[in-house]
Amino acid sequence: MIELRDIRKSYGSVEVLKGITASVEKGEVVCIIGPSGSGKSTILRCINGLESYNSGEILVEGQRVDRNAPSIVSIRTQVSMVFQRFNLFPHRTVLENVIEGPVFVKKEPRKEAIERARMLLAQVGLAEKADAHPPQLSGGQQQRVAIARALAMQPKAILFDEPTSALDPELVGEVLGVMRKLADDGMTMVVVTHEMGFAKEVADRVLFIDGGVIVEQGAAKDVLNDPKHARTQDFLRRVL
Ligand code: ADP
Ligand code: MG
Repeated sequence: MIELRDIRKSYGSVEVLKGITASVEKGEVVCIIGPSGSGKSTILRCINGLESYNSGEILVEGQRVDRNAPSIVSIRTQVSMVFQRFNLFPHRTVLENVIEGPVFVKKEPRKEAIERARMLLAQVGLAEKADAHPPQLSGGQQQRVAIARALAMQPKAILFDEPTSALDPELVGEVLGVMRKLADDGMTMVVVTHEMGFAKEVADRVLFIDGGVIVEQGAAKDVLNDPKHARTQDFLRRVL
């Protein structure tokens, strides 16, 4: 579903992605782990065209991701993103946040969008918060709204960029629980995370990235329980 072929990306003279080749199959959950500054967010941002890349090719269902081509609008509706800091509109209600994309980007009838939004809010355990404003909610609740908003676009895949890193520890579980349910339902997911327990239990595959290169990738259990490379071993020793 998602294919990255030898992606290189520089900011000025600094190359931050140094030839990333990876793929994500339909229904697969791939976790990306690695130290801060290694290029994890940049990879996600390149996949849905928030950033351009200098060379290589990214394909989403065979369609080339080019942030300057008209096709980028359709690719962004097919690949939703969930950010560390939720990015909800504070002055709009939860329900309005969730229907924003379907109504204004996909031009869906408002009534349909509202119906689905209510269903999705129920799915993330927030049916009764539809009329609340994001600042009235806990971080965990806001992140669950953000997930409902991502789902409202009926995406083929969802990219998560450290979705629980900004949360108080006691709120992490409720968000990971929603993500785990999505994975069980067959959603294609790419998850940048430091939650090694989640990666171990939910991910089909793990990529360890350091210094803009994939140092090691494989089945979650292999990479996390029995890493082959010294850099992976060292990283895991520090985070576990
Ligand atoms: P990670 O998500 O793994 O922490 P990032 O993908 O955010 O890493 O960043 C990779 C590298 O690119 C870092 O060295 C970071 O400082 C640099 N970088 C990220 N965004 C920008 C930007 N807009 N301009 C310049 N450098 C950037
Ligand atoms: Mg990041």
